[in-house]
Amino acid sequence: MTTIKFDNVGKIYEDGYHAVENFNLEIQDNEFIVFVGPSGCGKSTTLRMLAGLEDISEGTIAIDDQVVNNVTPKNRDIAMVFQNYALYPHMTVYENMAFGLKLKKTPKAEIDRRVKEAAELLGITDLLKKKPKAMSGGQRQRVALGRAIVRQPKVFLMDEPLSNLDAKLRVQMRSEISKLQQRLGVTTVYVTHDQTEAMTMASRIVIMKKGVIQQIGAPKEVYDFP
Ligand code: ADP
Ligand code: ADP
Repeated sequence: MTTIKFDNVGKIYEDGYHAVENFNLEIQDNEFIVFVGPSGCGKSTTLRMLAGLEDISEGTIAIDDQVVNNVTPKNRDIAMVFQNYALYPHMTVYENMAFGLKLKKTPKAEIDRRVKEAAELLGITDLLKKKPKAMSGGQRQRVALGRAIVRQPKVFLMDEPLSNLDAKLRVQMRSEISKLQQRLGVTTVYVTHDQTEAMTMASRIVIMKKGVIQQIGAPKEVYDFP
């Protein structure tokens, strides 16, 4: 059970730019929230504040009723997947997926169990001994997803995870990610500039423009279907 609450959250960058203002949102357990809006509207900034990768200038963010403004990223129990995969090129898929758990001193047998289970779920079992260099974009993105889910985080964050994939693969991965989220039941926040992606994946959509929320609602409520 994980809930997230943004209370009047804002971001002012060091150069004085007010990138996010008055951001208010309550996320329920197991929701799939999508932030959507044009490039530069503050989606990534908001996600990064939730992840702890960016200081929160104004307001508070709480995870399970605990304010996390001063909690380090490591202690927020969040896993994040990026557009560029951010895999370690010199490590095998197995090592990439095991790395975070090793740092947390998880017992070897437990690491092995979780990595194999995640690999099975993502259909990448036969890639475990390969290095990311030799893999396609879709395969790399699955490994990045695997690396995130082995940690069994409270919150799952994705920032434009499909933007580097070709159109066909993007459509396929959309439904794979949706299924994965439903299967795991993990509270998820997903950032995209793609309305179709938002519509097909979200339980609720947050539409942003110039740093402020324009609308919040289920896909049917925020977009007119033909
Ligand atoms: P989005 O994810 O919606 O594309 P971002 O959150 O990346 O938008 O950026 C929001 C705005 O903040 C943009 O105008 C961007 O140029 C600006 N911005 C992002 N990072 C910084 C930074 N480190 N310093 C100053 N401005 C920034
Ligand atoms: P996005 O794909 O989210 O639009 P960008 O290309 O805008 O990403 O930003 C990439 C990186 O550059 C981010 O770390 C962001 O914080 C930083 N950045 C973006 N805009 C600015 C800016 N105006 N000043 C300083 N850093 C910025």
